[in-house]
Amino acid sequence: MPAVFPDFRLGSVLATSFTGTLSERHGVPVERIPTPHRLVDWLVVNGLAVDSCTAVQLDLARELRESIHAAATAAAIQDALPASAVRVINDSSVQGRAAAILTPEGHRRWRLSSASCVEDALSVIAADAISIISGERDGKLALCASPTCQAAFFDTSQSRTRRWCDMNTCGNRQKKARFNANRRKNSRSAE
Ligand SMILES: [Zn+2]
Repeated sequence: MPAVFPDFRLGSVLATSFTGTLSERHGVPVERIPTPHRLVDWLVVNGLAVDSCTAVQLDLARELRESIHAAATAAAIQDALPASAVRVINDSSVQGRAAAILTPEGHRRWRLSSASCVEDALSVIAADAISIISGERDGKLALCASPTCQAAFFDTSQSRTRRWCDMNTCGNRQKKARFNANRRKNSRSAE
C-alpha cells in the first residue's frame, strides 16, 4: 500500500517554496520531503525533473534547505548571514551544472546535465536563494506572522505588507481566529 505523504505547498518563488517543504518549524514540524522519492516528486513539480535521488542526495537537499532558511531568516531581520549557511548555499550553487533554456513560446526552462543529477537541481535552487537574499530581485524577505511557523517568505506585494508565508494555511488559520474573535474585517490578504 502506498504511503501517504504531506502535500507540497506551492509558491511562486522557488527558493522559499523549497524551504516550505519543512513547515511549522516552531510548532510540530511537518516534513514534506521525508523520502528521496518525495524530493524527486517535488523537483518534477517545480520544473527540475530528475529521475532518481539517493539518500545522500536527500541529505544534501535538506542541508541546503535549512541553510537557505537560516540565511533568509537572518536577511529578513537584517541580521548577519550565518557563515556556515552561506558556505552551503555557495557550494550547492557551484556544484551543479544547469542551463537556462528559452522555449519557442518564450518561457524559461532549466536543463540539467543529466536526469540523475539532483546536484544540478539544487544549484538552481541555491542560485534562486542568492537572488532573493542578495536583494537583487524586486521584493522583500519577511517572516511569517504565525508563531508556530515563522517561515521566511519573499513578499512581492506592492505594499510589502504581506504577513503570512502561505495564505491557504497560516493566513487562513490566523484570519479565522481573528474573525471568530471580533468579526473585524481583515485589513489585508496575502497573495
Ligand atoms: Zn507560515
